Amino acid sequence: MEIESIVANSALVRAREGKRFKGRSWKWREMLRFPHISQCAELAMSTERDYYSLCVKQPIGKKLFQLFCRIHEKVVITLSVLHVVLICSSLFLQSNQCVSIVLKHEQSCIQNLHKHLSGEPFRQYQDSMFFDRFLQWKMVERQPITKQCFRQYRLLGKGGFGEVWACQVRATGMMYACKKLEKTHVKKRRGEAMALNEKQILERLDSRFVVNLVYAYETKHALCMVLTMMSGGDLRFHIYNIGKPGLDRKRVRFYAAEVCCGLIHLHQMSILYRDLKPENILLDDNGHIRISDLGLAVKLSEGSLVRGRVGTLGYMAPEVIGLEHYGMSADWWGLGCLIYEMTAGQPPFRARGEHPKPPEMERRIQKEQEEYGDKFSQNVKNLCSLLLTKDPKERLGCQRSGGREVQYHPFFRKINFRMLEAGLVEAPFKPDPRLVYCSDVQDIEEFSIVKGVTLDHTDSNFYSKFNTGKVPISWQNEIIETGCFGELNIFGPVGSRSPDLDW
Ligand code: ADP
Ligand code: MG
Ligand code: MG
Repeated sequence: MEIESIVANSALVRAREGKRFKGRSWKWREMLRFPHISQCAELAMSTERDYYSLCVKQPIGKKLFQLFCRIHEKVVITLSVLHVVLICSSLFLQSNQCVSIVLKHEQSCIQNLHKHLSGEPFRQYQDSMFFDRFLQWKMVERQPITKQCFRQYRLLGKGGFGEVWACQVRATGMMYACKKLEKTHVKKRRGEAMALNEKQILERLDSRFVVNLVYAYETKHALCMVLTMMSGGDLRFHIYNIGKPGLDRKRVRFYAAEVCCGLIHLHQMSILYRDLKPENILLDDNGHIRISDLGLAVKLSEGSLVRGRVGTLGYMAPEVIGLEHYGMSADWWGLGCLIYEMTAGQPPFRARGEHPKPPEMERRIQKEQEEYGDKFSQNVKNLCSLLLTKDPKERLGCQRSGGREVQYHPFFRKINFRMLEAGLVEAPFKPDPRLVYCSDVQDIEEFSIVKGVTLDHTDSNFYSKFNTGKVPISWQNEIIETGCFGELNIFGPVGSRSPDLDW
């Protein structure tokens, strides 16, 4: 490894180690300083008083509402009853018994609680200092984002429109990956709609199995998406670059189960992903995966289908290649390819090192039966062949129950999906925190420069749609996770509107 790479890697590893509390700028308190409450008047007027958004969905809002509830006794009693119910149900969950009974009970309990809280308590909350504080946080959230908000570390990879860099938020110390889209490249290749599509789909998602978008901003030369940092590398790297190609059964099962949950989340939002392949599945530092690169994803309107040969040829479903109308079926085919490749250490329809021409590849996908070597157990073979069913109407995952049907397959018998969805299952493989799981910096091809493209005012309309700054839920999570919320959210004596509300 060259010295340049070693230096870049060790800087990144050091920044990563300190990510919880260190790594903040010494000016971090100033960067996150609350405005005086009098400066929040306009925001207070324009904020829609929606209980669900203010007290459930937004993490800082939820925290402040809980703090408010804690000083109102009646609410506390309801909350602690709920707490007991939740603890009991999680004990049940771990034993995986009576789940549906408990679930029903838990859901109706939560519903009742919200019904109660959204009434009088919510009204009182809006007159409390806790809501004032919420508005102050929202003002901080509104501050514009520029390049200066981040420190940049090493190059992580290269995409179609630009590079992806490791970066760290100066105010909180949080590490992220910044995907840059070079403005000239986007313009030359007419990538505006695609870039905006990716950004808008990502900002509406909130799934532990899909990378989160946290900031979207622009610099003079680039549009930037700041995403969950996935330091464990992609599945392609793990399948091919560490020992013999392929992964052991436990890992195949675990990654397949998490991807399945990710697809279900996307499909619930009517989003078809269309680009399932090992290099788009990334590992975080605990060994959990997230689906990334939503450039080809589309939002389908209720029950509608799309057409178009989109994706990567080797992984395209027969109906995509055949120019038919298709829906979510394309993703279940993709999952079949992924499970096949993780198990066999090579993709279906192609021998190792073989590069068939596109027409031949298409023929095989549409006509040929895939082959299963002795690495496939009965269960995994059965699952793959059900997912790789040529006719989308017959394919596993494409019936009424959608992805749930995939989860019920015997291959996943050992997976407790409720626990997995809650993030309570430990990954079978944890990346080594001292390693950097991607190609050396100098091996990542340099990004070419486009000449002869000038940017003008017609482009700025698109840029301003892209440049929306912080994504509230993700940013609020960052503030809480890095401990900044705990350190800054100090009140004066309980109940008083003390002057240090705006310290
Ligand atoms: P494109 O849409 O142009 O293909 P990608 O989103 O696939 O771009 O990103 C290109 C490369 O950058 C990926 O193959 C991966 O190596 C790296 N990368 C992308 N997102 C992340 C992330 N969140 N964390 C770490 N590395 C990433
Ligand atoms: Mg990609
Ligand atoms: Mg892409």
